[in-house]
Amino acid sequence: MSYLSQFKIAPGARVKLAQFDPTCKGHHENHAAAAAEIAHYSERLRALQDLLYAEDNRSLLICLQAMDTGGKDGVINHVLAAMNPQGCRVAHFRQPSREEAAHDFLWRAHRAAPARGEVVIFNRSHYEDVLVVRVHDLVPKQVWSDRYEQINEFERLLADQGTQILKFYLHISSDEQLSRFKDRLEDPTKQWKISEADYAERKRWSQYMTAYEDALSRCSTAAAPWFVIPSAHKWFRNLAVAQIVVEHLEGLGLQYPRATADLERIRHEYHAASK
Ligand code: AMP
Ligand code: MG
Repeated sequence: MSYLSQFKIAPGARVKLAQFDPTCKGHHENHAAAAAEIAHYSERLRALQDLLYAEDNRSLLICLQAMDTGGKDGVINHVLAAMNPQGCRVAHFRQPSREEAAHDFLWRAHRAAPARGEVVIFNRSHYEDVLVVRVHDLVPKQVWSDRYEQINEFERLLADQGTQILKFYLHISSDEQLSRFKDRLEDPTKQWKISEADYAERKRWSQYMTAYEDALSRCSTAAAPWFVIPSAHKWFRNLAVAQIVVEHLEGLGLQYPRATADLERIRHEYHAASK
C-alpha cells in the first residue's frame, strides 16, 4: 500500500491513539490542492464498484466508527456519491431494538452483511458492543471481554466467504469535537443533531479512547484490518478512506464476467445489415 499504510493497524500491535495526529493532511496543503486526487479516487471507486457488482462473487464491508461529529455521515456521503446506488447499502446501528436485543450481539450485524456483489457501509457496527456497551457497563466485563475474539471469528467467516472488510476509526480530538458541537449549535441545518446527552457523553472521552484502543488492538486482523483516519480535515478524511478502499478493491483482481452469449453469431444475425 501507499503512504496510507501508516494508518493501518498491524495485527497484534498495541494501539495508542495519542500517537496518531488527527490533523494530518498527507502530502497536500489544502482541499484545493487535493481536488484532482480526490476526483481521481472517486472515479476509481465508481469503476471498481461496477466491477464488483458485475462479478457478483466478492463483496465489500466498510465499518465506520467514530466519536460524535467524527464524520461518519460525511464519509458515507463521499464514498456512496461515487457509486451506483444499485449495489450499495448503508446499515445504521442504533440502540438495539427489542428483537435485536433478544438475539446474540452479532445477529443484527450478520443480517446486514453484504451479499455477493454488494457494498455495505456500517454506520456504527458490532463494535458498539465493545465500545458504548463497555463504557456504560451495559453487560458484565466477562461478557464484553469475550466479544473481541467472537468478533474476530465472525469477521473471518465473512472474509472466508469473499467479503473484503475494511474498518475505519475516524480520529478527531476532544477539542475538535467541542468546536464542531458549537458549529452545530449555530447552524440551523445541524441543530437537530445536538442534544445535552452529547455533552454528557464527552465526559467519558478517555474511557472511550481506552475502549477504542482495545478494539483496534485486539481486532485488527489480516482479514479485517483497522485504520485510524486523521479526521480533523474533512477532505483528507474522505480522500484517505476512498484511497484505501480503492487500493484494496484493486488488490482483489476483480474481473467482468465473460459473455455467455455467442457474440459473433449475434453480430451476424442482428447487425449484419448495419455493417
Ligand atoms: P447515532 O448513530 O448518532 O444515530 O446514535 C446511535 C446511538 O446508538 C449511539 O449513541 C450509539 O452508541 C448507540 N448504540 C449503537 N449500538 C448500540 C448497542 N449495541 N448498545 C447500546 N447502544 C448502542
Ligand atoms: Mg449522534
